[in-house]
Amino acid sequence: MKLSVWTYEGPPHVGALRVATAMTGLHYVLHAPQGDTYADLLFTMIERRDHRPPVTYTTFQARDLGSDTANLFKTACEAAFDRFQPQAMIVGASCTAELIQDDPGGMAQTMGMPIPVIPLELPSYQRKENFGADETLFQLVRRLAEPMQRTDRITANLIGPTALGFRHRDDITEVTALLEEMGIAVNVCAPYGASPKDLTRLGAAHFNVLMYPETGEAACRWMERELKQPFTKTVPIGVGATRDFVAEVAKITGLDARLDETRLRLPWYSASVDSTYLTGKRVFIFGDGTHVAAAARIARDEMGFEVVGLGCYNREMARKIRALANEFGVPALISDDHLDVEAAIAEAAPELILGTQMERHIGKRLGIPCAVISAPVHVQDFPARYSPQMGLEGANVIFDTWVHPLVMGLEEHLLTMFREDFEFHDDAGPSHQGGAHARREATDTPAQDAPDEAGNVIWMDAAERELKKIPFFVRGKAKRNTEAFANERGLDEISVDTLYEAKAHYAR
Ligand code: SF4
Repeated sequence: MKLSVWTYEGPPHVGALRVATAMTGLHYVLHAPQGDTYADLLFTMIERRDHRPPVTYTTFQARDLGSDTANLFKTACEAAFDRFQPQAMIVGASCTAELIQDDPGGMAQTMGMPIPVIPLELPSYQRKENFGADETLFQLVRRLAEPMQRTDRITANLIGPTALGFRHRDDITEVTALLEEMGIAVNVCAPYGASPKDLTRLGAAHFNVLMYPETGEAACRWMERELKQPFTKTVPIGVGATRDFVAEVAKITGLDARLDETRLRLPWYSASVDSTYLTGKRVFIFGDGTHVAAAARIARDEMGFEVVGLGCYNREMARKIRALANEFGVPALISDDHLDVEAAIAEAAPELILGTQMERHIGKRLGIPCAVISAPVHVQDFPARYSPQMGLEGANVIFDTWVHPLVMGLEEHLLTMFREDFEFHDDAGPSHQGGAHARREATDTPAQDAPDEAGNVIWMDAAERELKKIPFFVRGKAKRNTEAFANERGLDEISVDTLYEAKAHYAR
């Protein structure tokens, strides 16, 4: 047992639902207890789809357990086929149904359906949503895709975008445009928008673009082996990564690496003088492995931030994120426990968090601004406007999104000079956001309340007043450094001198 208040990922059958909902002409029969239909809301409310997901739940109740739940499943399969007439079906169990061991896959195969029926084995107690999506797409591709002659012109499949994916809708448009510029057409995009019939044509493409390793890698590896299609390893999020992606595609296809950068604004925006105050801002990055890896590179190389911590919640990406943290010289945090993440953020005392909706809540509690870079996300991260993360427009979107939560340069300056002002004071919050959220004083942060390594060091009044002269966004870090400095030297009290000695010590 594990006490969980928030989970970063749902159970694996939600991953299967994301694949089914992304596709057309596919139906999912899910052996599940009454109540599991809540998952529909993820698609109809959060993603705001205008139709129900193509799923039939058996919705068994307590009284059904005494009778024939297996029969219930068979009836549901027949009814789903009659009503929806899909080209193919996937069948599987949710967590509770896994316990009663009715074997939906085995049963469906004995029913003699006139369409392909693909059983899913999703271990609900060991794996999670991303695995569920990856495995479902893999099983579909393995069953439906066949070797075939390549298209005359060079084409690629886009692999990995699903329903309920963070900006998947607009990333597809952006990557399609990148390929088009090089003279490459998209053969099939899967699962987003594909039908089972489309999956049978996957083998006609010359190569695959693996857009999201979390949800498409198993399928790409299988196609590489069985259909001899190479797949791209660079995810084009960020300017450097987009250029690398184009170069990788050029190498695979033998075409020229063409990239029209006239609409790219991030590099100049980031180099222009207004961005000088962004240099060295300390950021903590957390999310799924793919978005974290991309964000770390953008933060350091394209925005001039200092990455002070990074990690991911999906252990499938643990090795990659550990290697990356090593390269950045920061500790890697591989955890799906939001309390671990909160503790690591409080410890690193960053000025900006790049994370998921969970980190936004953590940022709110700690008084640290946050921008969202990865699922899980709330409804506002399925926006009406065009907002990719990938490609050149994605880089423009990222620049705006990450800078927005920060206090702007002039205001930051005013805050340092006039902290007693009635309008521009530490608790007022950034003016461009309406100043709605009052910030906590750094002295109230959990980092201080916790029995940390500061031990019993006491702040003298004068030192505390001096500490408050430090702008709030760096005050937490200054406070922790001074306490650690005093602690190392066995001091009981922190005076103004200690504060400045610590400052000089860490500046070295
Ligand atoms: S079967 Fe799984 S997803 Fe459904 S209610 Fe139970 S624990 Fe939640």
